[in-house]
Amino acid sequence: MQNNPWERALAQLDRAATLMELEPDLKARLQNPDAIVDVAVPVAMDSGETKEFRGYRVQHNNILGPYKGGLRYHPTVDLNEAKALAFWMTMKCALIGVPFGGGKGGVEVDPKSLSEGELERLTRSFTRKLALHIGPGRDVPAPDVNTNSKIMHWIVDEFSKLVGTHTPAVVTGKPVAIGGSEGRTEATGLGGSHVLLAMLAKMGQSPKGMTVAIQGFGNVGSFLARYLREAGMKIVALSDSKSAIHAPEGIDVARVEVYKKEKGTLAGFGGKDIAANEILTLSVDVLAPAALENAITEKNAGDIKAKIILEMANGPTTLEADEILRGRSILVIPDILANAGGVVVSYFEWLQNKSEQKWEKNVVFAELKKKMNAATERVHRVSEIRAISLRDAAYVVALENIQDKKGGRGM
Ligand code: NAD
Repeated sequence: MQNNPWERALAQLDRAATLMELEPDLKARLQNPDAIVDVAVPVAMDSGETKEFRGYRVQHNNILGPYKGGLRYHPTVDLNEAKALAFWMTMKCALIGVPFGGGKGGVEVDPKSLSEGELERLTRSFTRKLALHIGPGRDVPAPDVNTNSKIMHWIVDEFSKLVGTHTPAVVTGKPVAIGGSEGRTEATGLGGSHVLLAMLAKMGQSPKGMTVAIQGFGNVGSFLARYLREAGMKIVALSDSKSAIHAPEGIDVARVEVYKKEKGTLAGFGGKDIAANEILTLSVDVLAPAALENAITEKNAGDIKAKIILEMANGPTTLEADEILRGRSILVIPDILANAGGVVVSYFEWLQNKSEQKWEKNVVFAELKKKMNAATERVHRVSEIRAISLRDAAYVVALENIQDKKGGRGM
């Protein structure tokens, strides 16, 4: 049951509600998304036929501000997944302190099976279906798995044509040239590195020489690897959906990025090729799942040897696995804190668009660091004072923030 991410989200809400005085009407509201957009997305294929895909946008809650969250293109996208991911966005925005609610969406499609033209037509078709429901003050999508700045550009273009005004603030994660923020691409991985380093400092541990395994070498995993290496940690294992490598002497992240771009795989880069799932149970100090949900389950949680898990993906740990890890005293740094860097810089991008400003990268990075460190500090403090896990503490902080603002917008 807990492999259903939406049921897990509800169980997490229940658990946090019992740790604090969560008002019953607020709890009831958070147990259901505000709205669900479920649409057919017709696409003219290169072959001449028209194919229909399924697209979703879940608007979970807007008490703190416009719905905010990514769009994912993946064959496993479904409504339960989108509902859970939207709920986690509500919690993440509340925890990290940006004036957004939670949303998430996507299209059930394998984008690797589409030509560039088909991908663009799919994105434009989906944008037309979403147009009445999104907008800078209403719902602001962003990139997620298999979507990127180019796709965000197509959305801005199509949306702007429909509303008759150039509207870059309808999405974040755009190319810098058309109103994207400096530093958005790096933000999630960089933010995760700030959280880990701040947490290690709290524990009086030096990052120097610590070993790290990262599952998923996409946007998030690759920048996390780069910044943790810069902090003196040793990246010893990496994986993607089809390949994985293990090199106890450490991996040169810049070189492996070039290799993966050229060959389309990590296999054969150097060190030892291992099975993709083996990465989760290697003997390392830090394990960072940075791919998809449900990577750590009751089947492998007992075999995990890492001392710290940095959840860069959304929902990588099932409820049963979380329990097992707690019992084994493995420190789990929860997703809604670890991967919040992306939405922080998305907020900076939205602010820049609305005020027609352009921030330098060093300003973006300095402001990002401030927000990540402040949230880490607060979650750590609540976890110590209440003697609860970092995950429970993160939910308590997020829910307290929403409860404080309730009565303002959206209720
Ligand atoms: P991405 O598409 O850039 O990369 C995903 C990576 O995961 C790819 O390397 C893919 O090969 C790999 N992968 C897929 N299945 C795998 C498997 N079973 N084992 C190992 N690797 C696998 O996506 P991303 O933007 O890096 O997102 C990764 C995760 O981070 C997702 O859970 C996403 O929701 C979350 N996230 C992303 C952002 C962001 O700003 N991009 C922000 C917050 C959270």
